[in-house]
Amino acid sequence: MPNHRVTRLRELIAKSEGDALLVTHPINRRYLTGFTGSSGVVLITANHAALVTDFRYKEQAPKEAQGFQIVEHGSSLYATVSDLLKQWNVGELLIEEQDVTYANYRIIEKALSPVKLITSDGIVEKLRMLKDEDELAIMQEAADLADRAFEHILGYIKPGVTEKSIALELEVFMRSQGATSSSFDTIVASGERSALPHGVASDRVIGRDEFVKLDYGAYYNGYCSDITRTVVVGKPSDKHREIYEIVKEAQQFALDHLVPGMTGKEGDALTRDIITRYGYGEYFGHGTGHGLGMEIHESPRLSLTGDVVLAPGMTVTVEPGIYLPGFGGVRIEDDIVITENGIRILTKSPKHLIVLD
Ligand code: ZN
Ligand code: ZN
Repeated sequence: MPNHRVTRLRELIAKSEGDALLVTHPINRRYLTGFTGSSGVVLITANHAALVTDFRYKEQAPKEAQGFQIVEHGSSLYATVSDLLKQWNVGELLIEEQDVTYANYRIIEKALSPVKLITSDGIVEKLRMLKDEDELAIMQEAADLADRAFEHILGYIKPGVTEKSIALELEVFMRSQGATSSSFDTIVASGERSALPHGVASDRVIGRDEFVKLDYGAYYNGYCSDITRTVVVGKPSDKHREIYEIVKEAQQFALDHLVPGMTGKEGDALTRDIITRYGYGEYFGHGTGHGLGMEIHESPRLSLTGDVVLAPGMTVTVEPGIYLPGFGGVRIEDDIVITENGIRILTKSPKHLIVLD
């Protein structure tokens, strides 16, 4: 994979105080190299790009990390890294401060001395915010898989089944369709539990005349999808209908008005202002959405504090909700990509109030 990601990264390194970047974050390692192994670090300088890993990956690493120098380390990874940095005359090394624990920092500092360690300020995560066409194609497939799972699960949800059995059915279906795993712990929250924004599936048995909120996603080919739909089993009350329609209106308004150039905070206001206008602002206690990609939660955020300016290629969720304690809650969530003029929606499952009887 030679490698516009490395080229873009080098531009950012050139603008930084550092001579080189040490990549320790496993997802960033895979993003830059294509290497799917579970151990190793990446070193990038203006002229060198190396994957330092161990003998277990002797065959796999050169196949996957094309364009990278593959360096096998012995008993000490950082002794090998130190040798490379000396060869390459690196004086100041950017490290991934979000990933390196304090204990590892001390190990790295000692092993690489006298190289000075400085913060990379999330340099690779900044690149990862902007998805390329290859990534968007995979994310569309991950979203399609979640959509097929929704269609499948509608036939399974009924009074008498437990939340956990619904979650299991969703996960088995997604695995059977090519997912590596679910992209996070599947949320199935029914009845009063649907008022829990993150109610992971429990032993609760689905009753009648109540919400069932499903929030799940497929981890597929290294990328995540993330979808929420809320349905009613039995007969919806006026209250069910009222809050469902408000959330739907807020979500649709955001989908219709999100554009590049907006901040995450402005994006958040698109849903929040509507929910607040209907008097339910205090029951919408989380942000409107989050970036997603190789990880389920990435930058940028659509939230009250979201200061990143949305740009074409960013992928985010749009997921307003209303949660009424003691009654239940609704959330509707889609995955979208910011385009030149607006957005494209990746998840396409229906959003009218589905009533299962
Ligand atoms: Zn979700
Ligand atoms: Zn989400």
